[in-house]
Amino acid sequence: MARFGRELSESELDSYDVIDRSLARTVRIVNVPFVPGGYAGITFGRFVYLAKPIPPDGTSTLLAHELVHVGQYQQTGIPRYIYRYLKSFFPDLVRMKNWNQAYRAIPYEVEARQETGKWQRRRVGR
Ligand SMILES: [Zn+2]
Repeated sequence: MARFGRELSESELDSYDVIDRSLARTVRIVNVPFVPGGYAGITFGRFVYLAKPIPPDGTSTLLAHELVHVGQYQQTGIPRYIYRYLKSFFPDLVRMKNWNQAYRAIPYEVEARQETGKWQRRRVGR
């Protein structure tokens, strides 16, 4: 397969300690004009699609968040991850009648926000 997107830079590998470095080395960052739903980024397996450009210097909260999802995919496997993600989202959407609330309640999103928050606090401490 042709090389697709870019790898993480050394600064990024140093910064984004939300996943194992060996896994981070396999990640591809792909810039796209937009992501469905108007989100800034979306991750499938080890492919991170970003709708807005980020500096490759390890300072992007968005990329830290998406890399947490890369780790979740790695732990769960892609089909089961997507199944669990949607199985949380759609019943909540019906119940809450609010797309954003249902999205934010997905356990994978809750964890990604928590881990990104911890990452930010570690960075401040450096
Ligand atoms: Zn997310």
